[in-house]
Formats: sequence, structure tokens, C-alpha cells
Amino acid sequence: MLDLIVKNGTLVTADATFQADIGVQDEKISVVAAPGTLKEAKRVVDAKGKYVMPGMIEPHMHVAAPFGGTIDVLDFYSASKCAAFGGVTSFMDFSSTVKGMSVLQAVKDRREEMSHAALDYGVHAKFVEANERVIGEVKQLIDYGVPTFKMFTTYPGVMIEDRDILEVLKEAAANGGLCGFHAESNPIAEFNRDNFAREGKLDWKYFPEAKPNACEAEAVQRILTFAEYLDAPVYFFHLSTKESMKLVREAKARGVKVLAETCTHYLTLTKAKNDGPDGVLYLMSPPLRTKEDQAALWGALQDGTLSLVTSDNEAFTREQKESFLDKDANGKPIIDFRKPVNGTPGLEERFGLMMAEGVNRGRIGLNKLVELCSTNPAKVFGCYPQKGCLDVGSDADIILVDPDKAVKLTKENLHYGLQYSLYEDFEAKGWPVMTIRRGEVLVEDGKFLGKEGTGRFLKRAISR
Ligand SMILES: [Zn+2]
Repeated sequence: MLDLIVKNGTLVTADATFQADIGVQDEKISVVAAPGTLKEAKRVVDAKGKYVMPGMIEPHMHVAAPFGGTIDVLDFYSASKCAAFGGVTSFMDFSSTVKGMSVLQAVKDRREEMSHAALDYGVHAKFVEANERVIGEVKQLIDYGVPTFKMFTTYPGVMIEDRDILEVLKEAAANGGLCGFHAESNPIAEFNRDNFAREGKLDWKYFPEAKPNACEAEAVQRILTFAEYLDAPVYFFHLSTKESMKLVREAKARGVKVLAETCTHYLTLTKAKNDGPDGVLYLMSPPLRTKEDQAALWGALQDGTLSLVTSDNEAFTREQKESFLDKDANGKPIIDFRKPVNGTPGLEERFGLMMAEGVNRGRIGLNKLVELCSTNPAKVFGCYPQKGCLDVGSDADIILVDPDKAVKLTKENLHYGLQYSLYEDFEAKGWPVMTIRRGEVLVEDGKFLGKEGTGRFLKRAISR
């Protein structure tokens, strides 16, 4: 007997929409059959009137990640809950590598922390330097199931020198790895930060100006040049500007092996949000941009210049962000964009935002949503077709979406426990009402049923 049948639903995958029933056995999809043909199972879920999609995959988030002397509010179990409510069944985070450390050990440490998750999880390896030891670990990491690496072109401490980037790129390319970048120009960011301070321009609203479009574009251009020179594949995390879209589009046309993502906040918010007393809540790097940039990002999703939409989730309370500010003689905080920790929540909101601003507005279709938030994350980060599709033999990661359910993205409707939502004004029509991971129901009737430590490590490999 089957463990589970999901019947009468409309299956929505990256490339098709059709009526079918799904049968699950031993955590995997064992059969996809014509409606009404699957009869017996330990549990039958009626998905009549619902969309049935592969579980969403979040490959870019920061949870339990010490940053700037503080730490975000989630751990991997509470993050599993927020994510599952947002239709996510697998997620990936980054090793907390520091200089002088074994990258493989940093990955193993992170794997241990992530083992508290209720979702399946992968780890990306962060490289902060290239010496003989860590370069020697590149192949070991790939064999261990961690073929995706991250490097920062800014933030002294985690920033890696350009010369070292070349070493990691070369070794990763030779062994089937993929290097991803946080691409911002450290010289431009530091130059502006210091000059803006001298000019007294430290209000929140100056933050986007201090890291202007050129700040991103300079680093993107540099990494693309490295990639092209070494014929090495590269990935860009969180691209936010029209200039980057042009650079990536042109590089792809030249045959450079480049893939890129943007994040939900760049698709839905603009830098106008930094103007005013709540501006502190909207500090993330890269910063929010203009309507024009936003339109370029949607265009790049439509034409394939961008392959993924992620959240770059790192959730802090308002008090945490403001705790970094100095106080004046009266104890009033002195606004200074240089001080607060950067980062915003998004793990739970991604699906709703892509419905509200993408599907509901006719910018993308449902199949494209699945492609951007599930199938492509699985393909790009090396866990397809185990994840990211509804094929026979794939893990039974399935979400049911009620197309008529409208939900506002208010703080009350989200599960972070934060006293704010960045998306109070957004309403999504079409909302995940059931989340199933490897055949186990994690969310049903507004309740989280996931158990701590039931997630499994994803051993990934990039197909070539
Ligand atoms: Zn990030």
C-alpha cells in the first residue's frame, strides 16, 4: 500500500500544468497517474481545486549566523517553521569560515548546526582566503557533497583578495565546483562611507547612495572578467541593478558560464523605503534600488538572464539593528547608516511575494515561479532531480497551493515573531496551505507539525 496519495490536484511544474494524482512510497514519489486511478494509501489528501507544486528551495539564507557582533533571531528549527509556512522544503546556508581555518571543518561544523532543521539542508562553503591547505580542500568538499562555494568582494574579515579568487576559481572549475559571489566593490563602498561621514550624510536614506549601482557593477564586471579569462563557471548572489543585468546578459551571449539570482526585496521594494524613521529596517546589502532597476530585474527573469529568486534571509529585531547606534546627551539614538547590522527577513515571504508581484500582476506565470524558486535552485546547486520536480523517483517534497486564498504579508501572518513586517502592504492571492517534505506533512491547517532534527543533509553534485 502507498504511504500517501495526493489526488485530484492540478500539478504545476517548471514546464507543464496538468491534472494528475501522485503516489508516495518510502519518502519518494513512486507514481504519477491519471486522476482517480490511485485508490489505496495510508493517507489520502484531496487536492481538488488546489495547485500541487514541488516544494520550494531556498538556497540563499543566513540563519544562526553571527554578524557584526550580533546574531539573527532564528535557529534552524524555527527557520524550518517559517520556511515551511512559505512552501519551502529544502534550504541551504553557508559555512562560517574565518581565516586560518579548514574550510572542510567549517562546513562540517555548519552541517552539525543545521542538523536541527526539519527541512532537508545543504551547506555552501565560504572561502575567505586561498592557501595550499584550503585549495587542497576544494576537491574534498566536492566529494563530500558541497560543490558550491561563496566568496565576498567586500566586508574586510570575510573579503577574499582578488588573487585568491583566481586560485579558488581555477581549482573549483577543474573539479566540478561552482563559485558564487557577493559582488560589491569594497573600494567604492569604503570611499563613499568615509566621504559621506565627512559631509554629515549619514541618514538611512543615504545608504543606497553610498553603495550605488556602480558599486555592484564594478565587482560584477571584475568577476566576469576572471570567469571569462579562466573559462570558469560563476554564480552571482543577490544582483540588484540594471547595470548588472546588462553585464550578465552580454557575458552569457559571449559564452561566459554565468548564472545569477536576484532577491524578492529588490523585485518588490525601492530605496524610497530607506527614507524616514523606519529606514533602518530596510538596510540590506546590496541596498534597495529604483523602479527602473526593478523593471530591469523582472525583464531579466523573463528573458532568462536571471535564473533564481532567493530571499537572502537574515532576520533581526528592530532593537538589534538600533542597538548599534551611539546616543546623544539626551540618550536619543544618533542615526548613522554605517552602524546597524545589514539583513532582512524573507524566507517565509518569498512565495507570497512572487505570487503578489509576479503571478498576480501577470509578470510571470505559475510555471516560471516553480522554475525560479524550486527547479532552478535544485539544478544550479546540484540536487536535481532529487529535489525541484514532481518526477517518479524524486523526493516527495510537495506543496498544495490554494489559488483563492488571499493573505496579507503582515507581521501577524508571518512566523518570525518580529514586531514588524517589511511587506505589510502586500497581499498575495494564492497561498501554500500544505507543505510535505519526503512524504511527511510539515504544515497543515495553519499548524506546523515538523519535528526538530528530521531534516537530512543534501549531498550535492553539479552536473556538467
Ligand atoms: Zn546573503
